[in-house]
Amino acid sequence: MPMTEEEDFGTEADGTLSKDYCTHCYQDGAFSAPNITIDDMTKFCAPIMSQLYAIPLKKAESFTKEQLSCLKRWCGREVAFCGSCGMPLLRDEDAGTEADGSPSHEYCTYCYRDGGFTEPDLTREGAVGKYAPMMAANLEMPIEKAEEMVRQYLLTLPRWQG
Ligand SMILES: [Zn+2]
Repeated sequence: MPMTEEEDFGTEADGTLSKDYCTHCYQDGAFSAPNITIDDMTKFCAPIMSQLYAIPLKKAESFTKEQLSCLKRWCGREVAFCGSCGMPLLRDEDAGTEADGSPSHEYCTYCYRDGGFTEPDLTREGAVGKYAPMMAANLEMPIEKAEEMVRQYLLTLPRWQG
């Protein structure tokens, strides 16, 4: 989940805020449910998503599990997400390229090539219009709900902030 307010963040053993985990998952330096599996977590999160965005439960489950498997706790390593579209940069070929040809650590190959955005004039609302129909088709959800979900999600990504 996105962590924006101070009370969203989990806490370390010394009481400072965790940079990696939210308050629901992590308190006083430990996971609140240390033995929970990714399947348990999916069962916990999917119905919430299904209800919030009117997604069929089965679709919500596979989508949630896919999302969870990219997170640090479940993946075992830090996975970067594209700062423009949110795609996880799991493989080298997922990464965009800088002007000198080196791989970007911030953006994916669809959004960013040779040091620039592939669609430099894309606005946030433009991106919602672009991604929401794909989301709606993939998850069999109403387009208004998909727009709401994409709009909220984009706000957590560096390209669309500020
Ligand atoms: Zn991207």
